[in-house]
Amino acid sequence: MSQALRQLPAIDRWLRSDFASDLCAEFGRNEVAVVMRSHLDRIRANAVLGVDPPVGLEDAAYFALLRADLVKRRCDGFRRVINATGIVIHTNLGRAPLADEAIEAVNRIAGSYSNLELGLQTGKRSSRYQHVEALLTRLSGAEAAVVVNNCAAAVLLALNTFCRDGEVVISRSELIEIGGSFRMPDVIARSGARMVEVGTTNRTHVSDFSDALSNETRALLSSHPSNYRISGFTAKPGLKVLAELARENQLLLMHDLGSGALVDLEVADLSAEPTVRACVAAGADVVMCSGDKLLGGPQAGLILGRAELIARIKQNPMLRAMRIDKLSLAALNATLRLYLPPNDPLARIPVLRMICEDKASIERRSRRALQRLIAIPGLEACLQDDVSFAGGGSLPMSGIPSTVIQLHHETFDAAELAHRLRSGEPPIISRIANDRCHLSLRTVLERDTEDLIGAVGRALE
Ligand SMILES: *Cc1c(COP(=O)(O)O)cnc(C)c1O
Repeated sequence: MSQALRQLPAIDRWLRSDFASDLCAEFGRNEVAVVMRSHLDRIRANAVLGVDPPVGLEDAAYFALLRADLVKRRCDGFRRVINATGIVIHTNLGRAPLADEAIEAVNRIAGSYSNLELGLQTGKRSSRYQHVEALLTRLSGAEAAVVVNNCAAAVLLALNTFCRDGEVVISRSELIEIGGSFRMPDVIARSGARMVEVGTTNRTHVSDFSDALSNETRALLSSHPSNYRISGFTAKPGLKVLAELARENQLLLMHDLGSGALVDLEVADLSAEPTVRACVAAGADVVMCSGDKLLGGPQAGLILGRAELIARIKQNPMLRAMRIDKLSLAALNATLRLYLPPNDPLARIPVLRMICEDKASIERRSRRALQRLIAIPGLEACLQDDVSFAGGGSLPMSGIPSTVIQLHHETFDAAELAHRLRSGEPPIISRIANDRCHLSLRTVLERDTEDLIGAVGRALE
């Protein structure tokens, strides 16, 4: 052991070698030293256990290893991937890909100055929210609107503005947790409001709400159940009924809509997904939703409601800590404009286009890709009926009829196949079902199809 340890070179001397100078020039001397030190620590720890280092520090193999670790630490691993899962709004894959118009808007605003908070007529300071407020009120029927950086922030901010030091009443069937540790009871607690839960898991009645009202009550809160459904012997009051109860008692009805569809998705049989307009029309005083779910824009949190309420939100100092950045605002503005005539949002906004593409069209695209994929040595493929999902907490039980390409490789099993596809360039994210690796073209942008086929070929070489 001591023999092995004695042979370890001093880092300083090693860094001065010709061997190291190229690496130091490329990554910086400090970085190389940091990574080497971690390697030496590991070698020493292993030596104590009697394990010899796999390669000597003067070997070319070590040079390659060191280089690989330095590249990893460069943090340039945030990359474009191809989503072949068939889940359109996939949180781990960045949710909504933007429309071309939104990408151009980001480009325009990102590289120059803008009138973000300047009135060009008055020459005076103005509000960044003006760039989307009129669009949002027009598209939702709400009197006023404000946006923050995501829906979680929207909910927290609205609760803090209207319910801090008071009570907010919510049904036990809607105490949701969505991914990334958004848990309604925790959000309510952090807002400074006290949660009063009413009803049962499966059944809540309007009387449960009215019985729970006190002098401390500020609002009723209803939440879209997002990623789960309670079925069977169930009941819960609709928004309209809650809105009436709220009005009779001079309380607010707040609704966390989550997904935030601006158009009816009956084409894709997702018409059960309520639109923002429907929630406003049903009498919700404040509606909160995401910008990058069914709306198909950038990450953002929309708060829509009566003018007097939105004005109060704008006076909450927390708004400043959650404010939307100019790039997201540019993308949101451009995306919202695609909802106005003469545009057809279902054709122009990628997530809506993907959700609405019919099975026959996906089958045609898949068949064309299939012809090319089966030419790859060792790979067999066939088409299979399947279902896709909107994802992002929209209608988790409603699969969209679809077709997938099922892959079979002579040497690699499904997990190995998926791993190789994920490790390629660009990485392809497939879905494994019934021990088979599946590619769904529903979520593969038309312009990415060539890349997909090329990457599959390379990944299996
Ligand atoms: C997705 C969702 C949120 C959180 O939205 P983010 O934009 O991810 O912060 C909150 N509530 C509901 C009901 C949701 O579906």
